[in-house]
Amino acid sequence: MIKTDLDQRLRSLKAELGSSILVAVSKYSPIDDVAMAYELGQMDFGENRVQDLEEKAAAFATRGLKDVRWHFIGNLQSNKVKELLKIPNLWSIHSVSSKKLVEEIIKREGEFKGEELKLFFQLNTSHEDEKSGFDSVEEMLESMLFLKKHGGPKLVIHGLMTMGSVRSEDFEAAALKCFGDLKNARELAQKELGLSDLKLSMGMSQDYKMALREGADYIRVGSAIFK
Ligand SMILES: *Cc1c(COP(=O)(O)O)cnc(C)c1O
Repeated sequence: MIKTDLDQRLRSLKAELGSSILVAVSKYSPIDDVAMAYELGQMDFGENRVQDLEEKAAAFATRGLKDVRWHFIGNLQSNKVKELLKIPNLWSIHSVSSKKLVEEIIKREGEFKGEELKLFFQLNTSHEDEKSGFDSVEEMLESMLFLKKHGGPKLVIHGLMTMGSVRSEDFEAAALKCFGDLKNARELAQKELGLSDLKLSMGMSQDYKMALREGADYIRVGSAIFK
């Protein structure tokens, strides 16, 4: 990776962001490239496998890159929650996708050494089978309520997450529909659960521009940065 190219790509993305936050998805990138992005001022990174995140977090710690904020964005299995929560500088989980997972996170809260763990509830707005996430808003609200009632003080309901549809003739229209559905779900969640200011995590390399237009608070971009 050539540093000036990476710098250029990060700068041009940041110019589009406004007040939204860029999560640089580093899942396909070697540690040297990720560390280079950090040195260029990028603090938020996303990983989708617990083991990869563990390795990258350990490498960052070894290099003394201590202000990093790790976002877990992948499909999460209950038996990996304990390991995940132990990872230093874990900032958020964007992929809370079942009641079972919520229960496990509550059970393992003691493993988390940070001050606050931001949780996003993932809604499967495209209804594509290979995507995880709650299948219905009702199920998601039930799990959010469960967390609100039973979760400890470090577990914060921070927002909602979705992925735009990929298998579609007109992917722009399909992505817009997904993002619109997430916005509607947020409105309902805020009303039903008495929460305010829930954030939206939506948009990847191919559809982040639309997500920003639809009010994304976090975009998760990988290949457009680390190609
Ligand atoms: C890989 C991934 C991204 C980033 O995808 P790109 O197309 O590389 O930008 C975003 N969100 C999730 C959940 C991912 O798994």
